[in-house]
Amino acid sequence: MSGRIRREKDCVARMIEIYCRDMHGGAGRSRPTGKEGGLCPECRRLLDYANARIDRCVFGAKKSTCAKCAIHCYNKEMRARIKEVMRHSGPKMTYRHPWLSLMHFLDGFKKTPDSRV
Ligand SMILES: [Zn+2]
Repeated sequence: MSGRIRREKDCVARMIEIYCRDMHGGAGRSRPTGKEGGLCPECRRLLDYANARIDRCVFGAKKSTCAKCAIHCYNKEMRARIKEVMRHSGPKMTYRHPWLSLMHFLDGFKKTPDSRV
């Protein structure tokens, strides 16, 4: 797995984490331990789905960030949910995970081949 892909997954995981903790109280008693720590079952499913989409992305490491590209390969339900997550967590990423946000921001400059966005 390239650093690019790992970063993308990391970024999605962090965003879902923030969202779940704020909106669903995470997994309840389990403490937030980084690595997809305190996710409720629904959010864990969303994360698994997101990871699978990234794995199957035809652009691989060459793709742009998901906000610009991968969201179009999500099914309707998951797309609505990940959008919700991004709207909630996107702004918080900047100060909770500044380094990751910066890298994600830079990755966003990479144009996905054949993307007209
Ligand atoms: Zn949740």
